[in-house]
Amino acid sequence: MRDVIVTMDGPSGTGKSTVSREVAKRTHLPHLDTGAYYRAATLAAIRAGVDLESEDEVTRAVGVADINEEHDGVFLDGENVSSEIRGGAVTTHVSRVSAYPQVREILVDMQREWVKSHGGSAVVEGRDIGSVVFPEAEVKIYLDADPSVRARRRALQFGDDPDDVVADLERRDTFDSTRAVSPLSIPEGAVIIDTSALTFNQVVERVLDLIAAHS
Ligand code: C5P
Repeated sequence: MRDVIVTMDGPSGTGKSTVSREVAKRTHLPHLDTGAYYRAATLAAIRAGVDLESEDEVTRAVGVADINEEHDGVFLDGENVSSEIRGGAVTTHVSRVSAYPQVREILVDMQREWVKSHGGSAVVEGRDIGSVVFPEAEVKIYLDADPSVRARRRALQFGDDPDDVVADLERRDTFDSTRAVSPLSIPEGAVIIDTSALTFNQVVERVLDLIAAHS
């Protein structure tokens, strides 16, 4: 099969992660969760004890961090940090760290390298994948859903208090959509799928149809 890059962008709680993993499994393509890169970079900065308000200090910490994603595990300097990057400390600070242009530059390079080293085809999920990381991707998807549906899904997934989840989602959505560099946006040429009233399988089938139409 010729190279195919499938990008899946959208805010949290739209089903991006579960859908993109299932699509990758069904198409036998490698899967890259770029949110995990930003989370691991945030953890690297926290562990280094740098001032998170300082772009230069955070960039230095991220620049020397060894971040990798393999077999559904996320590794920071050789340690599997898959659980820790989903914890409160990282979730609180990740949008701030992700807004730093120098950090994004480092991580975008890593993400492109990752796809290259995995054969050039992949399903890649994030916020700026179809717009910035792989603007030439063959298939671009933008998943969306009503904010109340997104919060409910997130609360169910992580067992958190729904009110806390709503507040966290609103805070991150605002931060991610209004930052100066690579804000969350609908990439040119992306197909928008509103998942509010669709089942998981319906969303997966729609994405698989779009991929099939391109092969
Ligand atoms: O996808 P997830 O919710 O794990 O992403 C965590 C955070 O990482 C997002 O809220 C966003 O600030 C940042 N992110 C980003 N660009 C990406 C992926 C994630 O800025 N491509």
